[in-house]
Amino acid sequence: MTTVSPYFDDLRCQPEVIHPPQNEDCMDIGEHMNEPAQHTAKPNVTVSSSVRELLECPVCLNAMYPPIHQCSNGHTLCSGCKPRVHNRCPTCRHELGNIRCLALEKVAASLELPCKYQNFGCIGIIPYYSKLKHESQCSFRPYNCPYAGSDCTVIGDIPYIVAHLKDDHKVDMHMGSTFNHRYVKSKPHEVENATWMLTVFSCFGQYFCLHFEAFQLGMAPVYIAFLRFMGDDETAKNFSYSLEVGGNGRKLIWQGVPRSIRDSYRKVRDSFDGLIIQRNMALFFSGGDRKELKLRVTGRIWKEQ
Ligand SMILES: [Zn+2]
Ligand SMILES: [Zn+2]
Ligand SMILES: [Zn+2]
Ligand SMILES: [Zn+2]
Repeated sequence: MTTVSPYFDDLRCQPEVIHPPQNEDCMDIGEHMNEPAQHTAKPNVTVSSSVRELLECPVCLNAMYPPIHQCSNGHTLCSGCKPRVHNRCPTCRHELGNIRCLALEKVAASLELPCKYQNFGCIGIIPYYSKLKHESQCSFRPYNCPYAGSDCTVIGDIPYIVAHLKDDHKVDMHMGSTFNHRYVKSKPHEVENATWMLTVFSCFGQYFCLHFEAFQLGMAPVYIAFLRFMGDDETAKNFSYSLEVGGNGRKLIWQGVPRSIRDSYRKVRDSFDGLIIQRNMALFFSGGDRKELKLRVTGRIWKEQ
């Protein structure tokens, strides 16, 4: 056989974007592996999967939203990438100009697509232009790993995150709604390398994480302890918790509502929504020669009626 020119080869490998509706075999090309097969009915679902490819920006590969741009040859481009291609169509290298692709924008408006978290249980079918908004608030969207001491990028549902904390971060797990926890640190004057501590509690069929952290509040080194709820914001409000720390006849008590792990630990910490202990007070509670931090934090979680 004669060699096929790379250009021709390229063309041949390009997925066919406009499928004739009667050709079932072709229509499967654009479907993703993890999507359930849709052979039986609903031709509009398969058509929309090829329209979905049309709506993918060839540069950033994200879904395109108005204004969608096109070159004079009809190649499309998202408005985010347009300023970055220096007026050259990234597909054919012709001058890009300022042509808007209204037809594609209108086709997009007629589309309804499954939420991208359908693998996490969302059965929502959402109009194209409200899909991003839905997904940013979808109650099935995965949670970020709540471990604060590292920039962990793991996401998943709550059972997955709990297993991950146990297996990968070696976090202590406790059963029950009361706790009695000792924090010991040998060089309490070094705030910089203070370790974050996280403990997971399981009670009421739910999971909670107790954070303990040293940080600098203005000029003052402080410790903060707070509880977060491993679930959504609405359910978090059904619970309350209290924390107590003391020594030498003094005691600090905090009562609060656990924040959802949807709120980052940093956001909770920076709003001081927890038990804050000045370092001087913490060392006083610790007793001894102030060379070692030894705090006993007791607490309780309960369900509000
Ligand atoms: Zn783009
Ligand atoms: Zn072009
Ligand atoms: Zn959803
Ligand atoms: Zn993690």
